[in-house]
Amino acid sequence: MKTPDQIWQRSGKDLLDTLESGPGGLTSHEAARRLERYGPNELREGGKKSTFRIFLEQFADFLVIILILAAVVSAVLGDVESTVVILAVITMNAVLGTVQTVKAEASLDSLKQMSAPTAKVLRDGTVVQIPGREVVPGDIVVLEAGDAVCADGRLLECASLKTAESALTGESLPVEKAAEVIDGEVPLGDRKNMVFSGTFVTYGRGRFLVTGTGMDTEMGKIAALLKSTSEKKTPLQVSLDQFGKKLSIGILILCGLLFAVSVLLRGENVMSAFLFAVALAVAAIPEALSSIVTIVLSFGTRKMAKEHAVIRKLQAVEGLGSVSVICSDKTGTLTQNKMTVRQLYVGGRIIPAQEANFKDPVQEPLLRAALLCSDATVNEKGEIGDPTETALVRLGEDFGFDELDVRDQWPRLGELPFDSDRKLMSTVHRFAGGYMLVTKGAVDVMLDRTVLGPGEREEIERVNQTFSNQGLRVLAFACRRLESTEVSLEEENNMLFLGLIAMMDPPRAESKEAVAHCIAAGIRPIMITGDHVVTASAIAREIGILTPGTQAVEGAVIESMTDQELQDFVPQVSVYARVSPEHKIRIVRAWQERGALVAMTGDGVNDAPALKQADIGVAMGITGTEVAKDAAGMVLTDDNFATIVQAVKNGRNVYANIRRSIQFLLSGNMAGILTVLYASLLALPVPFAAVHLLFINLLTDSLPAIALGLEPHTEQVMHEKPRPRKEGILTKPFLASVGLEGLVIAVGTIVAFHLGLRYGGEAAGATMAFATLCLSRLFHGFNCKAAEPVLFTRRFWNNKPLLGAFLVGALLLSAVLVIPPLEELMQAVALPWQLGLAIPALAVGSMVVIQLLKAIRVRLRKAS
Ligand code: ATP
Repeated sequence: MKTPDQIWQRSGKDLLDTLESGPGGLTSHEAARRLERYGPNELREGGKKSTFRIFLEQFADFLVIILILAAVVSAVLGDVESTVVILAVITMNAVLGTVQTVKAEASLDSLKQMSAPTAKVLRDGTVVQIPGREVVPGDIVVLEAGDAVCADGRLLECASLKTAESALTGESLPVEKAAEVIDGEVPLGDRKNMVFSGTFVTYGRGRFLVTGTGMDTEMGKIAALLKSTSEKKTPLQVSLDQFGKKLSIGILILCGLLFAVSVLLRGENVMSAFLFAVALAVAAIPEALSSIVTIVLSFGTRKMAKEHAVIRKLQAVEGLGSVSVICSDKTGTLTQNKMTVRQLYVGGRIIPAQEANFKDPVQEPLLRAALLCSDATVNEKGEIGDPTETALVRLGEDFGFDELDVRDQWPRLGELPFDSDRKLMSTVHRFAGGYMLVTKGAVDVMLDRTVLGPGEREEIERVNQTFSNQGLRVLAFACRRLESTEVSLEEENNMLFLGLIAMMDPPRAESKEAVAHCIAAGIRPIMITGDHVVTASAIAREIGILTPGTQAVEGAVIESMTDQELQDFVPQVSVYARVSPEHKIRIVRAWQERGALVAMTGDGVNDAPALKQADIGVAMGITGTEVAKDAAGMVLTDDNFATIVQAVKNGRNVYANIRRSIQFLLSGNMAGILTVLYASLLALPVPFAAVHLLFINLLTDSLPAIALGLEPHTEQVMHEKPRPRKEGILTKPFLASVGLEGLVIAVGTIVAFHLGLRYGGEAAGATMAFATLCLSRLFHGFNCKAAEPVLFTRRFWNNKPLLGAFLVGALLLSAVLVIPPLEELMQAVALPWQLGLAIPALAVGSMVVIQLLKAIRVRLRKAS
């Protein structure tokens, strides 16, 4: 935007005029017009791939390139048929791959949209929450601790505002902001009266006038320089890639040897031996493992998002499967976060909330303080603000006191915002010719800061205990005179005690059941709260977290412990109360050092480090700050503990499905290799033509593999212990069953091969081996559904995509076997009906044998 001089050198009023805005912000009509004119407030993402590019990338695989080379060589040598088949198969495979990748990216994109930040702006004079992308120049944005700054702008108003600008300037400490004009040229980091897109508010409050959005921000200027952050691979993908690499090297050596033997010892045609070696490598190397993981994970995230858990990092889905400890906040996550004031303690008396009376001179100062020292608003449009504070404002409303009237009468001149470390909040007001500080906060903290008469402290503690035992959250209120409006944290001392207000925040109805599910699934639920230990214990006991034999402690207890002591201590504790964010990090770390995989919830600015430390950081979508969401791997759109447990269930199921796909691919490949090895060891003719292997591997195999990734979720996973943190997917028993199943399918294929050789000759042998391997692998999809037998159960039929994949595969195979031109193209020959019947018989037979083996394994496991 062109201005005669720099934004920081001009007054807010001046800029408001230039941008044709006012103290009440823009009208929604004008905002819509500007959105049209300036475009959405987002950084243009460099490097977003077109579908065509994704399609082309499918050919960038080492093996596919070799195949293309092979096709070219075939063409040159006049073997046009092979060329056509190879190219057709590669193209169809690329189309399949493109469709899957585009779908996976679309679901990841929609996830990104879901976790996109929002902004509070003034529109038509009132504060409304809108998606950050709709913010336009001229908007006035309201900021508070934890918010993400969504655009660049000039501060109009500022109360102890601090922002973290490291993303932009590299400065690691939060920068203190001020609304005053700054003269002269100053570097970005010193433009204290401006805020910038991509930074976060760590403390305080403020309002700014938007001067630049989207690419027209400081962030936008450097966005072009930022490399588009490529999605990091998940640990599972990394380990599969490593496994795949090792396997590939082994297979390439094997294929090289086979090639050498065919040419040198058997004197086969170099070209066809080469083609066969390449096809075998393609068929045997499980190149799709890592991409299967991405596809299945991204499908999983879609289901999870529908169930209120938005995944921000793909790793989180995988990690969820092995979570063994869930550390959860209490307020809002285990409880409803619908606070209602139940009791007051004022003037030495306990008074039920319904008897509160603003006209009573004893109660009036307490009730007034409750309205003044609060940022919440309650009006016909709803409630805005922290539920603790809306409860206080509602108390006033119930007695006909309008918060605005009270706040008009005693305007706020200064403040010390709430923070969960200090557990206090203060505001400054003009009062009786001077100034008054009104403070509210946790009772234990407040008692040390108020001047009390003899016995008074004990009495207040006793009342606090009584309230807390009922699960009530108790706040203390106090005030003191001030000489000026300038306040610092020291002023929150030597105060006059006004009274206590106790409110109820009932547990969520579903918390108890979710906790029980957690425990049944071998997961330890732990409550970590800023609230009082007695209040927390009462709620924790009610929902089953605090059980006999475990204890509730205050966060301070762990301060004196060494890391080792803490590690030994954590298993005994189910509730940590009065916890500060630093305690959270230590608790997470102690559990991790014990080998646990920890999910931890958080909402505040200070929770970000603990969310990052946890294996799965879980941020609250409704009450959580943008900072917390940014640090988390998963965001709960309903802030509900039960959603975490549901997400764990989904995570376990997704993991199991990935295993199914991998098992399917590896064991099928194994069968192919074993058959080829068998034939070459016995000096038999080659059992498959190169195109056969390509057909199976690139066409009929991909669909069942994906379909297995979509296997319907089961409850069963929640009756098992969590997977050990370090356990990879390729465990010895897993690989053993892959080997065994591969062997069974190979035996069926070899029998088919011999039948063909015997009753029809070499070509019939290859056709039989190809068709039997292909069909057996299609049937094998059903084997991979479960560790136990599924034949003759309803489960056999419950995966529709798998049934579809089977049908498509079987139709393709039949087409190749019965339509003469295809038959010729695919180097298959017509078979006598007896041989034709042997194919399904052998394929079904191998499935039945594998089902029997599964039944035996289940028996043996039960017996041991
Ligand atoms: P959880 O950690 O389970 O979400 P919490 O909401 O109690 O629990 P904090 O928000 O850190 O955790 O609050 C800690 C304590 O600070 C509360 O127990 C209460 O005594 C006090 N407190 C909470 N909100 C306010 C507020 N707005 N003003 C003053 N004091 C507050």
